[in-house]
Amino acid sequence: MYAVITRTLREAGLRVTPQRMAIYLTLVKTKAHPCAELVYQELHHDFPSLSLNTVYNTLQIFEELGLVRRLDTGEGMCRYDANPSPHMHFVCKVCGRVLDIEYDGTTTLAGIREHVQASSGHVICDYSLLLYGYCNACVRKANSPK
Ligand code: ZN
Ligand code: MN
Repeated sequence: MYAVITRTLREAGLRVTPQRMAIYLTLVKTKAHPCAELVYQELHHDFPSLSLNTVYNTLQIFEELGLVRRLDTGEGMCRYDANPSPHMHFVCKVCGRVLDIEYDGTTTLAGIREHVQASSGHVICDYSLLLYGYCNACVRKANSPK
């Protein structure tokens, strides 16, 4: 993962700074799909000179470079994901967690792509699919006796 970000930043003519590395690694090591504010809170002790604005700008650069994926789950904020594998997301309407749904897209998503490409001629290069509902933990909690 160091190699990926180092190479991508250099190819884009951008400096590989400790702050940029730290922001990227924060996203790589979490499955929580944090927003910029959370990334900032996670790092500002180690990087006192880091500003929230820098985190926003850096995440935007990462998105443009394809290092991270931006998720708009309709909460009025953007979440970020450094997991490059094609997968879907599940948003819990109770606890608000955004969970990865590992799915390789070989059947249904590929079927949607084929259908759209064949019927419209649009070329689909990526997917972002959000599923909304009640996560298994919230369902268990709701069903357990009080
Ligand atoms: Zn939940
Ligand atoms: Mn994800």
